Amino acid sequence: MKLYECEGKMVFAKAGIPIPRGNVIASVDEAAASAATLGYPVVLKIQVMSGGRGKAGGVKLVSNESILRETASQLLQMSHGGEQVERLLVEQQLNIKYEYYAGITLDPLTLLPLLMFSTQGGMDIEHVAETMPEKIITRHLDPLKAMPLHGVLEMLEESGIDNGHLMPVTKIIMGLIKAYYAYDAITAEINPLVIMDDGKALAADAKFETDDSAHYRLKSVLGIVREEQGMTQLERKAKELDLAYVSLDGTVGLICGGAGIGMGSMDMVMAHGGRAANFLDLGGNATTEKTAAALRLVLGDPAVKGVLMNVFGGINNCATMAKGVCEVLDETPLRCALVVKMRGHSQDEGWAMLEQRGIPLVKLGTTAEAVGLLMHEISRTKEQ
Ligand code: GDP
Ligand code: MN
Repeated sequence: MKLYECEGKMVFAKAGIPIPRGNVIASVDEAAASAATLGYPVVLKIQVMSGGRGKAGGVKLVSNESILRETASQLLQMSHGGEQVERLLVEQQLNIKYEYYAGITLDPLTLLPLLMFSTQGGMDIEHVAETMPEKIITRHLDPLKAMPLHGVLEMLEESGIDNGHLMPVTKIIMGLIKAYYAYDAITAEINPLVIMDDGKALAADAKFETDDSAHYRLKSVLGIVREEQGMTQLERKAKELDLAYVSLDGTVGLICGGAGIGMGSMDMVMAHGGRAANFLDLGGNATTEKTAAALRLVLGDPAVKGVLMNVFGGINNCATMAKGVCEVLDETPLRCALVVKMRGHSQDEGWAMLEQRGIPLVKLGTTAEAVGLLMHEISRTKEQ
């Protein structure tokens, strides 16, 4: 998960990295109120996922309220990297003397975090890497070893940093390493890491991306809840229900008892001239509730003209799953065709329940037969 700058700065602050004073706002009035408490001059920064905001005019220095109102209003209407700006970060303006770069990213070759530092901060680090690679000093970090204070000092000296900046910058880098591990980051970057005219060092920007596999614990640690980007409404709902679901553009809904049987079923639908409306793996803990939730979800896609449930009673129980189907049938009459292919543990009980409801079953046949039957059912319903 990528964090917005304001969120990344919160993470930095928790790790002891100094950040500018500031507030996140969503309206011009809020911006004015925030600037009044911070004191002019202030900086307004759009909060979006893409970088390069400075160059695109998304970072503005303002010196009084009338300019602030006008600028905030413009920025709140901006879009950057395809994202509509919704919030701004209002910060005390910094008297910047130097701009450094500090970052950590996962090195795919060694599978170790790679610490990077450059005296050429403020600009695109990719540009620095291309034009003056010798200006980027790197060190691998070993997660199994203690914090590499000595190594950090050594790399800073190698970078040619002003001696007077050594201590405050080292402190920030140690904080960055701490944050990187503590919040399961894959990328953590401060660009620019600034030295102000009074000699103090601050993180003036924050780029932080966490490992999605750590999401479950970061939610409580970071307190960041985000509407998943690029997900359909049904996919979001599926995530809440702990169902592996992907929306597709066809009309045949699928509920499958495993990823393999799911993909096989999708192929079989295609072989029968249809297209899957979704991929859904019910998983190995298919309770009655979960099965019902899966069927409701698939039926929730208005494009679905028929549903194939293709499951095994192995770890799961056919009777338990059939009960889930019946639960949905009790709520509302079925609006489209449904074919169930299920066998295994408690199959007779499961079959009996579904047969009683008139659901077409494929008991011992193949997925191809089940899909064939469903396609037939779909065209039959169409004719009616
Ligand atoms: P990015 O372009 O999206 O990476 O946004 P940054 O947060 O890095 O801001 C871009 C540039 O704006 C920085 O490199 C600084 O030069 C400048 N900037 C940001 N905050 C301040 C500030 O408080 N004072 C001054 N003078 N410049 C700032
Ligand atoms: Mn930046």
